[in-house]
Amino acid sequence: MRLAVIGTGYVGLVTGTCLADVGHDVVCVDIDESKVSQLRRGETPIYEPGLAELVTRNAAAGRLRFTTKLAEIDDPDAIFFALPTPPNGDGSADLSFVLQAAGDVAKMLKTYTVLINKSTVPVGTAEKVRAAVAERTKVKFNVVSNPEFLREGFAVSDFMQPDRIVIGTSSSKAQKVMEEIYHPFTTEGAPLIVMDEASSEMTKYAANSFLVTKISFMNEIANLCELVGANVDMVRAGIGSDERIGPRFLHAGIGYGGSCFPKDVMALWKIANQEGYRFKILDAVMRINRLQKRLLVDKIVQKYGEDLNGKTFAMWGLAFKPDTDDIREAPSLEIIKPLLARGAKIQAYDPKAMPNVRKQLGNKITYSPDALSAITGADALLVVTEWKEFASTEPAELAKHLKRKVVFDGRNIFDPDTMKECGFTYYSIGRPHT
Ligand code: NAD
Repeated sequence: MRLAVIGTGYVGLVTGTCLADVGHDVVCVDIDESKVSQLRRGETPIYEPGLAELVTRNAAAGRLRFTTKLAEIDDPDAIFFALPTPPNGDGSADLSFVLQAAGDVAKMLKTYTVLINKSTVPVGTAEKVRAAVAERTKVKFNVVSNPEFLREGFAVSDFMQPDRIVIGTSSSKAQKVMEEIYHPFTTEGAPLIVMDEASSEMTKYAANSFLVTKISFMNEIANLCELVGANVDMVRAGIGSDERIGPRFLHAGIGYGGSCFPKDVMALWKIANQEGYRFKILDAVMRINRLQKRLLVDKIVQKYGEDLNGKTFAMWGLAFKPDTDDIREAPSLEIIKPLLARGAKIQAYDPKAMPNVRKQLGNKITYSPDALSAITGADALLVVTEWKEFASTEPAELAKHLKRKVVFDGRNIFDPDTMKECGFTYYSIGRPHT
């Protein structure tokens, strides 16, 4: 099929590339000229495992093109919107990118087209998009909600082997087009769940809000474990083996971040609030996460006091999670600011996210070329993102480079007993400190 994707960020680029890889003819449009030039030169502007190879392969095969000009979409069967929906000042989702693009696309329609919303949007957005397009064209079209569930760091594999594909439409004609687009996935066993537009839009917010509730619940259990002398790793093994609970999203840590969870929880809270309904669990989840992101700072201040002048901390990990360069709402930023404000120095290392942090913080912190350089001469190591390469570092290696054998592990990557045997003062989350 002939497809267009408007917005070539994390979701749009992955969607366009994967759909090209299964045989569709795809044009990706973005207003960011530098991004499009990079893609045309064969460079991938974001880091996502496996993506660069797929982009190169499909661009070379002529199935995947990039442009800044909407006019070049040339009468596609369907157009995906993968546009930002950042929070407004009051926490609600800003729909201006989606509605603006919908209005622009309307003028390009030539024959019946399905307009597919992949952005995460409040209930009622499909209808708003329909109205914005209908005002500007006489051509027939349908608007479909098709929320995206990919995880950064696993985006390609999540898109290629989805747990489910959710389609929100009340039009059987649009449903047929969607079934055809996703046929290569459904033949491989991916379930396609068709529902009305409102339920589909709500499904995405409900999924993300449930996941952060699970994370925050476990973080509360971890905090309590520290107080009563239990070990959250054991508790996780104990409850995660229960089929009704499941093992995933039960790792205690220093809170969730990223471009989706914080804004989506806030947006759902706001949707409820606008209906006069107080979403009480989400009140708690947001409060817990704010405190959890500051937990390492609290532990540091407890150990060293408020004045951190003369102290140097090594920070391992800046991205909001491993295998991505994304630093939106990353706990690292919430930790760096209060430490700098108390006079500390920070030597950071992240395999992918340093250029993005440098854009925000400039030279306020030092960027190290590798993990061991970052800890050299530091008073303590802070583990903020659980990149695999960090967990494989031997404690003896840590001891050789650090000035003092102190580790604040926000992601529980080291074993407390081993750290104790090696003479470390070791703080982690929800486990006895040594
Ligand atoms: P992003 O910021 O990475 O990408 C958005 C892109 O849209 C940018 O490249 C921007 O230049 C472009 N753009 C803005 N206005 C445009 C216009 N008028 N025409 C063409 N391009 C335009 O955003 P993202 O992370 O891909 O998220 C997109 C949507 O998908 C959001 O609603 C988000 O909540 C949702 N989502 C994101 C993820 C994720 O993991 N990132 C997962 C699921 C859903």
